Amino acid sequence: MPGSYRKVIVVGAGPAGVAACQQCIREGIDDVLLIEKDKIGGLIRQANRIENFPGFVGEDGREMVEELEKIVSDYEIDIEYGDVEKIDEGFRLKCDGTHRKAECLVLATGTKPKSLDFVGEKYHPEWRDHTGEETVVIGGGDAAYDHSLRIDKLGGEVTVLRRSDPKALPVLVKEARERGIKEEKAEPTEIEKDENGFRIRCEDDVIQADQVITAVGREPNIPSLTFPLDLEDVKFPTGETDIDNLFVIGSTVLGTYRQTSLCWGMGIAAGMKMSKKLRKK
Ligand SMILES: Cc1cc2nc3c(=O)[nH]c(=O)nc-3n(C[C@H](O)[C@H](O)[C@H](O)COP(=O)(O)OP(=O)(O)OC[C@H]3O[C@@H](n4cnc5c(N)ncnc54)[C@H](O)[C@@H]3O)c2cc1C
Repeated sequence: MPGSYRKVIVVGAGPAGVAACQQCIREGIDDVLLIEKDKIGGLIRQANRIENFPGFVGEDGREMVEELEKIVSDYEIDIEYGDVEKIDEGFRLKCDGTHRKAECLVLATGTKPKSLDFVGEKYHPEWRDHTGEETVVIGGGDAAYDHSLRIDKLGGEVTVLRRSDPKALPVLVKEARERGIKEEKAEPTEIEKDENGFRIRCEDDVIQADQVITAVGREPNIPSLTFPLDLEDVKFPTGETDIDNLFVIGSTVLGTYRQTSLCWGMGIAAGMKMSKKLRKK
């Protein structure tokens, strides 16, 4: 496997992964590989408006993505695009049919949407970036309102369908109401799809939509591992785990505190810790 062994491999080019790579390079680690299955930026690409990260207050998440892309380019971070499907003991990674091995491995793979388990059919559509059609966003939290605001600003028709009162930040709910975004309080029980679009069945109602986005929470996203890993034992802020030289950082391990600034901070802390460990050797 010539060239397949790397001192540090970071999986995931969201804020946490990019921060970890940047810090490693700042610390003088000369062999760092970043692997990303989609695009640089991760989930912040979807944010309609960032409110709590200095330098980006009031900005669209894509402004931050541009900054992350710039960091990757300016720091000459070696990035490869591929899906890390499996990781064996000794940090042997299977990525789109090729193998890589790492001395230090950082998982910054973020979260994945929770599915809605309806009776009969399991349905979970992925987020799509733009629509000019009628969209129903299922959920009542920050992501549901943020998605709805973006669709509204892009000129789409949108309804927030939530089973209880809004759980989103008041500022998001206020803006949605000021913009006249429709809200329905009902619990969806089933979604049917045919050539005319989607029919969302609730207890007393059926709602039609061209597109459905579910935003009912997220859970840790970790590639398949052939060894046990307990995310409960991950240390904050460094992301160290019970396994030597394995780090898990960012929203994967932040639970309800999944904010970009904390993900960024964990990336920096992991880079500092790795540098200390590698220098000791
Ligand atoms: C609508 C919305 C609005 C938000 N607004 C804010 C806000 O205002 N302020 C704030 O602080 N936060 C906000 N957030 C949260 C913020 O986006 C996340 O906290 C942050 O992006 C998490 O960073 P991360 O690097 O941990 O993970 P992610 O950003 O999720 O990045 C993980 C990366 O890993 C990649 N990956 C996953 N699995 C693999 C694999 N097997 N192989 C290769 N690559 C893989 C993914 O493609 C992704 O690029 C918002 C989120 C959403 C959805």
